[in-house]
Amino acid sequence: MSLEGQHPVNLNTLYQQVILDHYKKPRNKGAVENAVLKKHLHNPTCGDDLEVQVSLGPDGKIDDVKWNGRGCSISMASASMMSVALKGKTLEEAQRMMHSFYGMMKNEEGNYKPLGEIQALVGVSKFPVRIKCATLAWHCLEEGIKEHEGGGTNG
Ligand code: ZN
Repeated sequence: MSLEGQHPVNLNTLYQQVILDHYKKPRNKGAVENAVLKKHLHNPTCGDDLEVQVSLGPDGKIDDVKWNGRGCSISMASASMMSVALKGKTLEEAQRMMHSFYGMMKNEEGNYKPLGEIQALVGVSKFPVRIKCATLAWHCLEEGIKEHEGGGTNG
């Protein structure tokens, strides 16, 4: 993909490197023991297939995040970056981050610095068809949290 546009070339290059690095060396791929939140979603537009699993610590903070799946470089890199960013966050903080990411994908004005290296995906907002690739992991998180909060935990 191409990230040309409003940013200087050196920043584009940096962003592309971050995305490629996560795609080639995916972080936190696998399954979580004692996952309390688990969601599998498919992006039919591109064929991306992804499952995200999250476990919570006794303090209610995200203890571990793992993901598994296959798809394009954008969807895989996004899942990898998300898994790194979410560790140690509360679900509320995770949701705040999620909405911030959705805003960035919609090209809304905002301060996206707290997203850290996830900002590397900002260029995707110019390619509507690829936005679903970038947001797939976050949709897994969103749906997973909804089910977790809505559906009782069997004790
Ligand atoms: Zn894709």
